Amino acid sequence: MKSISRVLHRVFVLAVFVLYSNAELWARAGGGGGRASHDSGGGGGGGGLSFLIYLLLSHPLIALIVIIAVAAYFFYKKKNPADLFNSGGSDEDRRLANLTSGPFPEGLDVQKVQTSFMGIQDAWQKKDLKEVRRWISDGVYQRYTAQFRMMNKLSQINKLSNIKVSDIRLARTTADGNYQSADVAVSFSMDDSFVSDKYPQFNENFSGDSDTEYWTFIKRNDARKNQDLYSTDNCPNCGAPFDTKMGEISRCAGCGTLTNNASYDWVLSEITQMDDYRGDDLMTQNAQLRELTKNDSLFAVQRMQDIASNVFMQIMEVFTGANQNKLSRFADKNTSEKILQIKAKSEGFIFDRLYLNEATLVSFNTDPEKLNLVFSLLATYQRVKVSDQKLSLLDTEMTTHPYNMVLSKNLKSLSTPEKETVYSYECPSCGAPYNDTTNDSCNYCQAPVIDLNKNWVLTDFQMG
Ligand SMILES: [Zn+2]
Ligand SMILES: [Zn+2]
Repeated sequence: MKSISRVLHRVFVLAVFVLYSNAELWARAGGGGGRASHDSGGGGGGGGLSFLIYLLLSHPLIALIVIIAVAAYFFYKKKNPADLFNSGGSDEDRRLANLTSGPFPEGLDVQKVQTSFMGIQDAWQKKDLKEVRRWISDGVYQRYTAQFRMMNKLSQINKLSNIKVSDIRLARTTADGNYQSADVAVSFSMDDSFVSDKYPQFNENFSGDSDTEYWTFIKRNDARKNQDLYSTDNCPNCGAPFDTKMGEISRCAGCGTLTNNASYDWVLSEITQMDDYRGDDLMTQNAQLRELTKNDSLFAVQRMQDIASNVFMQIMEVFTGANQNKLSRFADKNTSEKILQIKAKSEGFIFDRLYLNEATLVSFNTDPEKLNLVFSLLATYQRVKVSDQKLSLLDTEMTTHPYNMVLSKNLKSLSTPEKETVYSYECPSCGAPYNDTTNDSCNYCQAPVIDLNKNWVLTDFQMG
């Protein structure tokens, strides 16, 4: 019976593909990445439907077979739901079946991931990260904050309801410098409505939409055991109640520790949509890179990718009108100028949604002085322009664009461990917070802000 199920499933998938191939839309992403979605409200599949009618008229026999197959599929599915799931016809089923589903690493469990998932959905709807800040990375914080700012410019909100998590499974764990990362596949369904009263042309509604996302958590190997940032409201270091005003910097107001430095608990550091997830670890396994960075106890590929996504989102904010002084906190002069030239050419736009699909360390090289890390990024967005309360579209739809960037640091400085500061928000020498000034040195200790001996500096940025 299994093979019948497989054949039926294939025909069904084909029929659905025909019906919905025109309805591939970008919906909200509770996860912070783009999410391809089927418009279950209808309306988008007109092309597929007319094709089916055409098929019915020109090849009635084939059309009849397709219709019978779909009916039989549903009949069979109703009778044998478990068998059908195991036969795994769809990409999603197949990928889930391939998961090792091994035991979670020490300190991470289904409950924490569930708490994290529900907490992020709630924060996303409210456009407020205060309840989750203590256990998310700075890059995740920056991705959401940038998206909230874009959504606010268009008075958009994204209401989620009926959220059901159907499966949480470990996909893989990776040793990464002094850190360990864990990718967890979270399968869920939800109703999702993206609304703006001011600009309703972008409104979208999805109900019962199901998907799988890969949630990546990291933790230091020397982390304290039995800590739980997810279910407590107190600092893991000093016990002071968490400051709900934590923003760009997740420092405890009591003792000054960074709660999300991964030495207390697993920290959420990336969310990847299933279509973007590759699950390889090219650079974490690279012996030469490991040798070059072995004395930097804060170096990890996942952390560098977090910094890259942080930098990328800040650049996107500058493109859409944020204070360009931001750039002087992480980019060298030439790269700052290059970014401002791109901005000048593209005359004042904002994003109707901006998703960073991925930020991946793809290669590295060294010159006599520096280690250069090369990142490849993919971002999905639609650019629009607002003038006199009227919207005009610069892109007719959401499209995905490649970018490249290089972060560099002096080789010599890699032999001394970094100070634990928040990238581009705090002085790497003394820890004082930066403000948006054109000062090229720290207000407190006068250390230069851009210093290849102290921090990773953006030395190139380009559209791919
Ligand atoms: Zn504390
Ligand atoms: Zn300083």
